[in-house]
Amino acid sequence: MTEVPAVSSPPGLSPEEQDRFYLALAVEQARIGWAEGGVPIGAALVHEGKVLAVGRNRRVQMGSAIRHGETDCIERAGRLPASVYRHSVLYTTLSPCSMCAGMALLYEVPRIVIGENRTFLGAEDLLRSHGVRLDVLDDRDCIALMQRMIAERPALWNEDIGEEP
Ligand SMILES: [Zn+2]
Repeated sequence: MTEVPAVSSPPGLSPEEQDRFYLALAVEQARIGWAEGGVPIGAALVHEGKVLAVGRNRRVQMGSAIRHGETDCIERAGRLPASVYRHSVLYTTLSPCSMCAGMALLYEVPRIVIGENRTFLGAEDLLRSHGVRLDVLDDRDCIALMQRMIAERPALWNEDIGEEP
């Protein structure tokens, strides 16, 4: 494993406050990615309250075709037993695309907390049809990051979702 923050949410938080806490780690990753010249999307993988990994879209930074926020996060968590994924929550700043949704389905991640799905609606129907619980927090920081991305780097964003520039 690499860059694993030894983080759990502070005690005494409500379930929604816990979700906001973990989503904030994903938002932090998205901000780092934007500052690096990349796509501002981040993710965190949390197993029974413990953060296993965080990640961010690093297609630009790594010259990668598949390093989305979610795939980068799962990759950085390293090889894990199947049972760990099945008891984990994936936090992501943006509604997962079909590639990332497929990854979550492969590893049977039961729940995904989504920062927002206004600027991009991913494969949520696919995930729900497989019984994945989705919670969309409609987070203003996540929306602002994507709106800025789409306004300032539209060609890069289109590339990210497989569209022509
Ligand atoms: Zn994706």
